[in-house]
Amino acid sequence: MRYFLVLFITFLCLSAKAQQTEFIDFISIKAEVSFEKDNTVKGKAKYIYKALKPFDSLMIDAVNIEITNFYDDHYDLDFEYDGKQIIYKPQFEANSYHELNIEYTVKPKKALYFTEKENSHQIWTQGQGKYTSHWLPSIDDMNDKIEFDLSITYDKDYQVIANGALIDKISNDSTTTWHYDMQKPMSSYLVALAIGKYEQKVITSQSGIPIQLYYYPEDSAKIEPTYRYTKQMFDFLENEIGVPYPWQNYKQVPVKDFLYSGMENTSCTIFSDDFMIDNTSFIDKNYVNVNAHELAHQWFGDLVTETSGSHHWLQEGFATYYALLAERDLFGDAYYYNRLYEYYVELKAQDEAGDGTALLNPKSSSTTFYKKGAWALHVLREKVGDRAFKKAVEDYLTRYAFKNVETSSFITEVEKQSGKDLTLFVDRWLKSPVLLEGQMIASLEDNETASFLITKQTNPYLSYRTDADDNYIPFSLITTLPEGFHAIQVSVLEEALSKPEYPTSDDLILEAFNSDQIQLRQTLALGLRTVPLKYQKQYEGLLNDASYITIEAALYNLWANFPRKRNLYLEQTKTIYGFNNYNIRILWLALAIATPEYEQDKTEAFFNELVGYTNPTQPFSRRQNAFETLSSLGVFNPAALTNLVEATKHHNWRFKSFAKQLVDLLSENEKYKSIISNLQDNQKQ
Ligand SMILES: [Zn+2]
Repeated sequence: MRYFLVLFITFLCLSAKAQQTEFIDFISIKAEVSFEKDNTVKGKAKYIYKALKPFDSLMIDAVNIEITNFYDDHYDLDFEYDGKQIIYKPQFEANSYHELNIEYTVKPKKALYFTEKENSHQIWTQGQGKYTSHWLPSIDDMNDKIEFDLSITYDKDYQVIANGALIDKISNDSTTTWHYDMQKPMSSYLVALAIGKYEQKVITSQSGIPIQLYYYPEDSAKIEPTYRYTKQMFDFLENEIGVPYPWQNYKQVPVKDFLYSGMENTSCTIFSDDFMIDNTSFIDKNYVNVNAHELAHQWFGDLVTETSGSHHWLQEGFATYYALLAERDLFGDAYYYNRLYEYYVELKAQDEAGDGTALLNPKSSSTTFYKKGAWALHVLREKVGDRAFKKAVEDYLTRYAFKNVETSSFITEVEKQSGKDLTLFVDRWLKSPVLLEGQMIASLEDNETASFLITKQTNPYLSYRTDADDNYIPFSLITTLPEGFHAIQVSVLEEALSKPEYPTSDDLILEAFNSDQIQLRQTLALGLRTVPLKYQKQYEGLLNDASYITIEAALYNLWANFPRKRNLYLEQTKTIYGFNNYNIRILWLALAIATPEYEQDKTEAFFNELVGYTNPTQPFSRRQNAFETLSSLGVFNPAALTNLVEATKHHNWRFKSFAKQLVDLLSENEKYKSIISNLQDNQKQ
């Protein structure tokens, strides 16, 4: 039986490995791409490949393209195409190089997106999973690493950004052709382009790598807060990882309505422009962690790439862990352990819901890949020590540079450097779905902040603040408690808010009101939905805080609690917009509309402004906010309904499903039913 099993497994491995990469190695793809008015992509791509073994069939992935020409360096060639793969059947000997050319057009359904802004538009790509073949015939298999050089022609008033270095730009009357050059190979899913109205600021790493920070022309005040710490993190990661940054340059490009927070395309990270923030936003929502995460992927994911989804943690676990290390370097140990503690809480919740998964399970959740992955590396490093860990990472990246990796590729290097047998670690941390809570808690207890938060889970802090005679011991949030990157103070203040009967709760709340600590004051803004009269004056002061979350909560709660002062609160906040989703402006409009005594003659203008934020040229986060607000006001006009039905076709699935649900809900209302069904009919045509 055992013998049979071995045979069977060998057979499985062989058949799984009989991939095209065994016979053919694609060396380079040079692609020329332009765009027609109707969003058709017009492309011409030249493929250089090497026959590794004799073969008689070659396959290129290409989804729903129209092939206009298919030829080698001399002749037109015969091919088969089934809408997904182009198959070409030559007879080639081993160790020979060949050329292929494809001319095509395609209207991509995914992977390449066209978005409208108020006075311009954008085109950008998202290749992961394996989607690049929706606009550029390429090789979906991550194991074939190819050097991609893109030449893109577009309206000369726009900027075009792609992987690699810009080597020339040729303009004619109306268009410019941008020629980007890569010098090293990568998997196809990492190919990227972004086109839009941009400016850029260039900084340079300690090692001399140009770092290009793109921004919209109107956003120059947002460059510093958005890209804060970029150079420090870049320099830190290069030193910490011990292997020089592998690409010619590093570009970061914000785009409208991106699918995720960010994507680590080789040398060209694309991220959501919701992260283009002003100085006030920084404290509540900033790009620092995403910035570090996508940068870490330039090594873990782009330089060494998983062979398959079973080893996905080698990308996401590593990127999450190294981003945390970069933040630890900036913000200190308390921050680092507080984040590990938060990951632990999230993983524990997943576990308790019965959804715990193993890191090596390709179908695991993001929580497992990212957060359990980071934890596994944290624990492994504690186990083998800094020196062995760092040397192992360096050797692993060097040995497999521009290649593909499995978990064993990494573990072998760590075993070599540490002299330790890691079988048990692999079984427990990587192969098992069980969460090793005991080990996690033991590690967290090394840090004062994390240890405090763990103890507080079972022993609420306030409940045991009594002396031997059962008298309550007064204390201070700010001077008695360990600082702990605000997490400790915030958690004790939350406890005080939930226990108004505790004798010193009042003192703690007043201390927080009188402090200048934004996090503590924000806890009050969010925690006191009913504002006691005795705190009214202090609570009103929250409207001046440098935090959009604080102002939003304070404005709403003050408006609701003190009706006679509504005009005053509205007057005080009428010029504040908030985050990219306009959290404050949209709330303000709703409150202004709902306050009959405020600027009555402008109510219609306020309503029209609110409806304007549902327009497709607005970012979807803002549109969703406006739709939700109209929904709570219970008023949709035809323009808002048109924009809502349009939103049910949006490329972002979360926004799309939000819009669909709202359409279904409104369709139950006789007032909207027929208008909506007419709009839906028009959309189908
Ligand atoms: Zn990632």
